[in-house]
Amino acid sequence: MTDIIDGDAIAAATRDELSGAVETLADAGHRPTLATVLMSPDPASETYIAMKQDDCEELGIGTRDIRLDTDASAEALFETIDELNEDDSVDGLLVQSPVPDRVDYREVVERLDPRKDVDGFHPENIGRLVAGYPRYKPCTPHGIQRMLAATGIDTAGAHAVVIGRSRIVGKPMANLLFGRGPGGNATTTVCHSHTDDLAAKTRQADILVAAAGVPELVDGSMIQEGAVVVDVGINRVQREGESELVGDVEFESAREVAGAITPVPGGVGPMTRAMLLYNTTKAASRQSGIDADLPALDV
Ligand code: NDP
Repeated sequence: MTDIIDGDAIAAATRDELSGAVETLADAGHRPTLATVLMSPDPASETYIAMKQDDCEELGIGTRDIRLDTDASAEALFETIDELNEDDSVDGLLVQSPVPDRVDYREVVERLDPRKDVDGFHPENIGRLVAGYPRYKPCTPHGIQRMLAATGIDTAGAHAVVIGRSRIVGKPMANLLFGRGPGGNATTTVCHSHTDDLAAKTRQADILVAAAGVPELVDGSMIQEGAVVVDVGINRVQREGESELVGDVEFESAREVAGAITPVPGGVGPMTRAMLLYNTTKAASRQSGIDADLPALDV
């Protein structure tokens, strides 16, 4: 029987575990607060921001929803970031990507106060992660690590294969998997668009993380019997005139072979959202100096 890993349920349990810490901070006079900055008319970005704001409010985390006109200058965005960096009532801060082409997103990320960078994208936070003492783990790979731990999947000694080497998913995922300690200690292979014979690599995986952004790139023939398959991809495709959401894994053929698999939707996505709440609460605890007794999610 293939285990379908229920990301919605694990995310809900994670939020429950976090609620006590949020309450402790609020009772001590510091309500954790996340500021989001949106500078794009992109409908998907609007949806992501709305979900992040709703998630926060549901857990008792305060929000600041800052919108900049798409034709505002890069300087206006930087000034906004500077103000939020200085604002003690803001614990976590993120600028929703994409930003308009004339704005360099790398500069945007570098402008964030790394202590408020709850996405974990600032070079200082990436450096800390790679060095082995992360401040904020990026939400998607951290969510995956958490999901594997909650499902009782031991990464130590496993061969993990990650498809994708992006800054936000593939690279930090690989670092967490081969890093020392719980949720790590795997032997890790990273594949990308120049990898020769991808299937030969994926078939060696005890744990396969697919984060390529290519609809159904991985099918059952590319998976080792009994492997754990984590599908990060979120791809909208048109099928028979209908718009459909699919992952990077062909779910039906993969589930025939895999020992456990995450669905799309309802797998990695909700975990990413839950870990943003975790990082924001952690930021609030650090910034306020109040011990919020954060649950030990840093697996
Ligand atoms: P990027 O486009 O930034 O990176 C994709 C990576 O996959 C690149 O490293 C690329 O290689 C590699 N790749 C592309 N095609 C192939 C291929 N045919 N074979 C092997 N490797 C390939 O994407 P992201 O990392 O940002 O996102 C990946 C997917 O995950 C997307 O579908 C995205 O929507 C989704 N996502 C989901 C999240 C969630 O919460 N569920 C969160 C974030 C992303 P190269 O470096 O050589 O170009």
